[in-house]
Amino acid sequence: MLGSISMTVSNLKYRRVILKVTGEVLAGAQKFGIDGTMVRAFAEEIKEVKALGCEMALVMGGGNIFRGAEAGEWVMERATADTMGMLATVINSLALQDALEKIGVSTRVMSAIEMRQVAEPYIRRRATRHLEKGRVVIFAGGTGNPYFTTDTTASLRAMEIGAEVILKATKVDGVYDADPLKHAGAKRYGELTYIDVLNKELKVMDSTAISLCMDNHLPIIVFNILQKGNIKRVVAGEDIGTLVSTGRK
Ligand code: UDP
Repeated sequence: MLGSISMTVSNLKYRRVILKVTGEVLAGAQKFGIDGTMVRAFAEEIKEVKALGCEMALVMGGGNIFRGAEAGEWVMERATADTMGMLATVINSLALQDALEKIGVSTRVMSAIEMRQVAEPYIRRRATRHLEKGRVVIFAGGTGNPYFTTDTTASLRAMEIGAEVILKATKVDGVYDADPLKHAGAKRYGELTYIDVLNKELKVMDSTAISLCMDNHLPIIVFNILQKGNIKRVVAGEDIGTLVSTGRK
């Protein structure tokens, strides 16, 4: 449990990370929207990891509110639907910012879509400065472009800010050979290469995001965010979840 893990900055394996949070996580037990209890619990965990000296940037998804591809197939212009999805990520980012600031964590929301009254515009050098100053940076608005996802945003921003790893927070313990919520016998992979993920069409992140990580040798760790203390365990280098990398040690 979270309270029993004691470590200091010297125990950290990763000093600068991108945490990709899928919108569904914020919905908690609900299927849609934002569950306040969930957001508060999540903020507490981030605070504890931050206190260890880990520089944290978050990329918020928006699937708990709106996914462009789903509406695009239906009646809407895809680009418009995707813009709505990107705005959903801003709503989630503000919810998390509020929860973090309430418990004394200094944050900045940086949006890829300019909306100065709401969030800072995304400027790479400013983002790294915020991290150096100990602020949690929340990247909102995806990449700012339709036809992309927040997984790709996480890969892109990770490269831009020099993050050592992408932590992909999900509701299951890692990557499985079948959906563990539907198949009792599903097996979890401890490690995978990018090529495995692409060839087996495993649902880690979309192929654009995986390719970007592969081209730039950026490791991804897929882990269960619902298990208390897991963000801490991952940044400390504990072997949980599934590591996706080049496979070379
Ligand atoms: N989106 C987009 N461009 C981006 C990032 C996101 O158009 O660079 C839109 C897209 O419609 C997507 C929605 O925003 O479905 C929400 O993001 P995502 O599906 O990645 O959220 P998650 O599944 O992680 O909650």
